[in-house]
Amino acid sequence: MINKSPYLLYSDGKGNTYEDTSLYAIGRSGWDAYPIPVEDWILLPDGGTLYELPGRLGIGIDVKTGELRLCQKGCAVAAFIPPAHTGLYLAAYETQPDAPTLPLYCYTAVGWQNGQFYVPAVRIERDIRQECSGYNTHKIESGMAQMLKAYPHNRLVQHLAHNCTESYCCPASRNYFMGRWECPVPTSPACNANCIGCISFQPAEESIVSTQNRLTIKPTALEIAEFTVPHLEHAPYPLISFGQGCEGEPLLMWETIATAITEIRKHTAKGSININTNGSKPAAVEALMKAGLNSIRVSMNSAREDIYTRYYQPNNYHFNDLKESIKVVKKYGGWASINYFVFPGLTDNPEEIDALCTFIAETGLDMIQWRNFNIDPDWYLGKMGITDAGECVGIKETMNIIREEFPNVKFGYFNPPAERMKNYDTDFAH
Ligand code: SF4
Repeated sequence: MINKSPYLLYSDGKGNTYEDTSLYAIGRSGWDAYPIPVEDWILLPDGGTLYELPGRLGIGIDVKTGELRLCQKGCAVAAFIPPAHTGLYLAAYETQPDAPTLPLYCYTAVGWQNGQFYVPAVRIERDIRQECSGYNTHKIESGMAQMLKAYPHNRLVQHLAHNCTESYCCPASRNYFMGRWECPVPTSPACNANCIGCISFQPAEESIVSTQNRLTIKPTALEIAEFTVPHLEHAPYPLISFGQGCEGEPLLMWETIATAITEIRKHTAKGSININTNGSKPAAVEALMKAGLNSIRVSMNSAREDIYTRYYQPNNYHFNDLKESIKVVKKYGGWASINYFVFPGLTDNPEEIDALCTFIAETGLDMIQWRNFNIDPDWYLGKMGITDAGECVGIKETMNIIREEFPNVKFGYFNPPAERMKNYDTDFAH
């Protein structure tokens, strides 16, 4: 815990970062800069990294005058905070003309004090599945060799090895090759939405590229069952998840997924089967629940239909389908989460909070995964036509309001395994 604001950071544009002790670091929410309460700063968690932001000048508070002013010494700096943590403020900077659009990452405020980096964030998830210190390269490589030998013709195992692990360093695929926890199962080359910040497909005319290339194969049900049954049988806290960052919308492959789930459950009753989805097809979700699906995670940038629709630009589905998909899962006794993209200035707007409360009350969802929104803030607000984000109460206060209104709704960052769905407070001694 620190007792005063940390100093602003700037970069020389060559990857070297310095503190400016004439300025305190502050944060951004919507289009505005705000001082950050001292108690909101935590040490940058292990696995966090720093970004230099080209064409942008940091905004800070002058330690002598208390006035807001720009740091002219170099370009602005932001932090990527690791999974399991939710950022409370974006980095505060002024964008210069001709500044390049930033890639699809999250840009949290960051400061420096007593030889350490600090960020305004909260640890929202106790599960340690993506702690960077927990990954063992030797185990990952030997696991990959073993699985590629065991399933020489399985295109999905090859995709998880050569694309997800070797190219993207995906935390989920690395856990699979370490034989533990959540195993990713991408299936869909296509999508029925056109998200502005899609991480697996960006139109050629866009100024940024997607962070992953979208899957190009349509796996068979047997290819899926072949490597997931042993994972469910032998991994600790076993879970498999359809719907990954490297694919389109898995519900467009529901027939294959339903057949795969049926096949899997012929061989094992262990573990849990989850789908990460845009929730666009309630009827397909019902078919999957009948086949044996256990949980769903529906992604959304907002609980306000207009803001959702402006971002997802859906083809042939509507915001209400998301609610219907969650209600179907609850009807069959499943676990339902939302993958809620947190954007300071929009997420903590009173209208958004009201809409979220209505969404929770109408659907009976079990969990909110408060995920950092990986997108250039200026680009996002610009594309959405949002010139004034309006009033905001703060992300922490938003969480408090939801916690008070819905004490049974769980907060986290990852899809829980079966053991945790039964008793969410089960501690993860692993
Ligand atoms: S739903 Fe997913 S895959 Fe589809 S456009 Fe949006 S981010 Fe991309």
